[in-house]
Amino acid sequence: MNLSVKIFISLVLSVVVGLIAGEAGLPFIKWWIAPIGTMFINLIKMMIVPVVFFSLVVGITSLGDTKKLGRIGLKTVGIYLFTTAIAITIGFVIAGIIGPGVGADFVAGAQPKVKEAPYIMQVLLDMIPSNPIDSMAKAAILPTIVFALFIGVGIVKVGGERAELLIKFFDAGAEVCYKVIAIVMDLAPIGVFCLLLPVVAANGPKVLLPLLTVIVCVAVGCIIHAVGVYSTMARVFGNHSPIDFFRGMSEQMMIAFTTCSSAAALPVNMKNCQEKLGVKREIASFVLPLGATLNMDGTALYMGVCTLFVANVYGVPLGFEQMMMVVLTGTLASIGTAGVPGAGLIMLAMVLQSVGLPLEGLALVAGIDRVLDMFRTCVNITGDGAVAVVVNASEEGK
Ligand code: ASP
Repeated sequence: MNLSVKIFISLVLSVVVGLIAGEAGLPFIKWWIAPIGTMFINLIKMMIVPVVFFSLVVGITSLGDTKKLGRIGLKTVGIYLFTTAIAITIGFVIAGIIGPGVGADFVAGAQPKVKEAPYIMQVLLDMIPSNPIDSMAKAAILPTIVFALFIGVGIVKVGGERAELLIKFFDAGAEVCYKVIAIVMDLAPIGVFCLLLPVVAANGPKVLLPLLTVIVCVAVGCIIHAVGVYSTMARVFGNHSPIDFFRGMSEQMMIAFTTCSSAAALPVNMKNCQEKLGVKREIASFVLPLGATLNMDGTALYMGVCTLFVANVYGVPLGFEQMMMVVLTGTLASIGTAGVPGAGLIMLAMVLQSVGLPLEGLALVAGIDRVLDMFRTCVNITGDGAVAVVVNASEEGK
């Protein structure tokens, strides 16, 4: 049986068992099952820094010149921004049609902590590692990318026999990382079951039903965005049929769905985009880590839905200008969102603030955020894969 099917079965099983166990089973699940899920995530996380670093260094050396890197970088960031703006617009349209929170009478619970959004110069500053080992130790992906870029360019400039030696070393290192990821992925059916079971048991119908319309909006929006936008990208610009594309993405989509972390899904995404979708290493190793930190279509879509939901709950109508403002701040906020569980909720504060909506609205969303996170993270990493496929096809023969 193929691995995606096995993971899918364990996903369904965890939902069934979780619903049966319910809150009564939670103590046992928390003590005995959840840690196994965490072990599995840790095994994948263990590979994030090595795979990004080794793979990106060889990737840069095989690009050969920095001009090509600049071209790929520009293309990648351009498509990332474009698809994110589409995603948030889809979120708006769906929420406009379904109208979550209209006429609702909610009492907000405890307000979650709100973090200030970092200002742009700080983001740029943080990208340059003063101590790359420290950045790697903290698994900070952007500074690791920057360091790998410089090392790769350095190796190209050194050239000759010594460069050959290093290229072989990094290439072998990357291969080892992909092998380890494959071994870890064999455990995914167990890992996924143990990760999802506590979530289902804790978020029974009691928690989810009152906010079902919000969940439906985010889920439907994510499906429309993935099927509509990514299938078109794969088919028209990426030389892949949608079925092919989603088959190649299925394992990492399920990992993203269960872990709610783009960063955790990154190693599998890098492996499968190359092995199953034929994306060249130099492109996958650059486009995907960048996407895991910057490109969050699902998060942007969720921000569109949640902003409209909060506006509806508090009876504040949003005009066209304010909607445009949400598209802009939502796109920027999604770029600033870290690829870890729950990060989007914190950044949602920025978007609500930009149009003067009460931040208490965050507390309403907080209760169901884990479930929304599953859908949005899944779309986040699928978007990275779609862009990798498109950029790869556009570079063919160049
Ligand atoms: N969990 C999401 C991710 O890792 C980020 C978010 O919370 O929106 O992609």
